[in-house]
Amino acid sequence: MKSIQMVDLVSQYEKIQTEVDQKLLEVVRSSQYINGPEVKHFSEELADFLSVKHVIPCANGTDALQIAMMALGLKPGDEVITASFTYIATVEVIGLLGLTPVLVEVDPLTFNLDPEAFRAAITEKTKAVVPVHLYGQCANMEEILEIAKEFDLKVIEDTAQAIGADYTFSDGKVVKAGCMGNIGTTSFFPSKNLGCFGDGGAIFTDDDELAVSIRQMANHGQTIRYHHDNIGVNSRLDSIQAAVLRIKLRELNSYTDARQNAAQYYDNAFKDESALEVPMRDASSTHVFHQYTLKTKGVDRNAMQEFLASKNVPSMIYYPIPVHRQKAYMDERYENMDFTNTDDLCDRVISLPMQTELSINQLEYIVNSVKEFLNK
Ligand SMILES: *Cc1c(COP(=O)(O)O)cnc(C)c1O
Repeated sequence: MKSIQMVDLVSQYEKIQTEVDQKLLEVVRSSQYINGPEVKHFSEELADFLSVKHVIPCANGTDALQIAMMALGLKPGDEVITASFTYIATVEVIGLLGLTPVLVEVDPLTFNLDPEAFRAAITEKTKAVVPVHLYGQCANMEEILEIAKEFDLKVIEDTAQAIGADYTFSDGKVVKAGCMGNIGTTSFFPSKNLGCFGDGGAIFTDDDELAVSIRQMANHGQTIRYHHDNIGVNSRLDSIQAAVLRIKLRELNSYTDARQNAAQYYDNAFKDESALEVPMRDASSTHVFHQYTLKTKGVDRNAMQEFLASKNVPSMIYYPIPVHRQKAYMDERYENMDFTNTDDLCDRVISLPMQTELSINQLEYIVNSVKEFLNK
């Protein structure tokens, strides 16, 4: 059996190697390393896949979030609400722009932004909300969008972990993650569901005017060369990454199937384990399983990780410390807010290997190792 990894990018590459190698050489020989045709084609193909009007590529998922907020014209002092249970990038850019991040509680079952906590945190200064579709399943967008509309707030979806997930509204309308709010952002970091061979990111919107501002912000604040209407940034996807992404985008649905199959295998194996809670599936969203994350009950999680490591089964804690407890992001207002679910999740979650190349043998070995620990 091949050694088990959280993410096995080599085996994934080997399956598309001929095509990738040839394409990479083509790009190298073309010398169009920046803003070449590969970038344009990839943006169009991703827009098609998502059924969104505009896809603006950029350098990474963190930049995508920052550029989205710049394009929306958010100003220092404006408050932006997001979940405390997320990767730091979501919150970091809010702070970097001089905006005020306001962290709120998540739902204990979906791990996503709790709409009622969002509503309760809204003040006169609130201008935007950033739902994060954590681990690959969409936040409760129906309610989040309703609240945002009621208070005239902008919605930026952090789709770094959920590209390809489908959300079904109560009227039956199905929309891809990242295409429901004003702007969606994603990351093509190698280990993401659609990953390149370096850094990459993209911004989605259906709004023509916003698309112009986003492009401008990502390109030194210029729409016409050497005419800088705004202070922007320099954030580009390069042609080599776009070439890889074009090939992988064609595989994305099959990658998602592989992840969902692995998740199903884990679910079946763990459904009767009283010490583990398998990830809940929200009826409104498909789950693309960026992570397969269990909630432990009455388990010494450190001991579990150590035991698994001794069996050469990697595991990870996403995330051990909530953002509202991070030194850089502490705020007095959190003292009077409820973060019971967020704190509890940080203490209890554990993520098992989740990727496109897990074999049945590997899954069986992982499951048996977990059970061996639980029955010790
Ligand atoms: C990975 C990730 C990002 C940042 O993406 P980078 O490409 O690493 O900058 C932002 N938000 C979430 C939820 C992520 O998982």
